[in-house]
Amino acid sequence: MIPSLMKPIFNRLSPGGSRGKLQVFIFHRVLAKLDPLLPGEPDAKQFDWMVRLIGRNFNVLPFGRAVSLLKSGSLPKAAACITFDDGYKDNFSVALPILQRHGLTATFFIATSFLDGGRMWNDDIIEAIRLFPDEAFDLKEFGLDQYDLTTPTNQISAIGTILGKLKYLPHGQREATAREIAQRAGVDDRSGLMMGADEVRATRAAGMELGGHTHSHPILKSLTDDDAYSEITRGKIELETILSEPVNVFAYPNGNPQLDLSSRHAEMLCQAGFVAAATTQQAIATVNTDPFMMPRFTPWDRTPTRFGIRCAFALAGRP
Ligand SMILES: [Zn+2]
Repeated sequence: MIPSLMKPIFNRLSPGGSRGKLQVFIFHRVLAKLDPLLPGEPDAKQFDWMVRLIGRNFNVLPFGRAVSLLKSGSLPKAAACITFDDGYKDNFSVALPILQRHGLTATFFIATSFLDGGRMWNDDIIEAIRLFPDEAFDLKEFGLDQYDLTTPTNQISAIGTILGKLKYLPHGQREATAREIAQRAGVDDRSGLMMGADEVRATRAAGMELGGHTHSHPILKSLTDDDAYSEITRGKIELETILSEPVNVFAYPNGNPQLDLSSRHAEMLCQAGFVAAATTQQAIATVNTDPFMMPRFTPWDRTPTRFGIRCAFALAGRP
């Protein structure tokens, strides 16, 4: 698809008003330079063309405002949101200046326990594989396997297998196992991967929207209701304390509506004072979508043409 043709096509597929459709893009990292162990994450150059394409062809809105307009039947044509999950430092240092250059507002969902030096369990594993000095990493004592680390391809495969095996362990056990594996590989407990509170404040001061993502990023369905509610509210209160203003949008950790959350968690969010929440279900939202179950869309194409075609197919209901 020729980039200049995209806008009329998107406008036609996403007519706005009572037939409004909302395309919510989800990012996690924007790397200063490509990382062989993170082949799915865009670098600054790729993110730059992606947001230029999004900015030229969509009406980009903050998530909370977009959901409110969707529900009231007054969404503009080709409405879209740009969202980031977790609170990585590169969101501030790499993505934010690019968004500002294109005059776009994005929404950043922050898991508060990792601010100022923390590291998420998945990054414990990635950094462990990156740093482990030997050709094979024996993790049998953790109920895992022995992993060949001789090539980047093998390292990526080891990371994928280990993350898959640990992801649905009970929350505390998952965190402890990943941290122990990181320590075994000599990974420092402190990390510069995530934003600090000052960077969260500066992101807000730059006109961006901030949202909750729990405190320590558990899969909510793996917790008791009391623990889930406490994770949701703690993350909200800590973020509100940093920002000195209410926080009323949320993204579910992991976010698969079938596996990771239920309608109970949506009720908890409502009770805690949130007005909208994003999942990671790949779809487009319409006026009939539950505002606490807003689907999103992960852009992974490597060329503008393919990216445009994927957006059009998603809007046409064939993601
Ligand atoms: Zn997350």
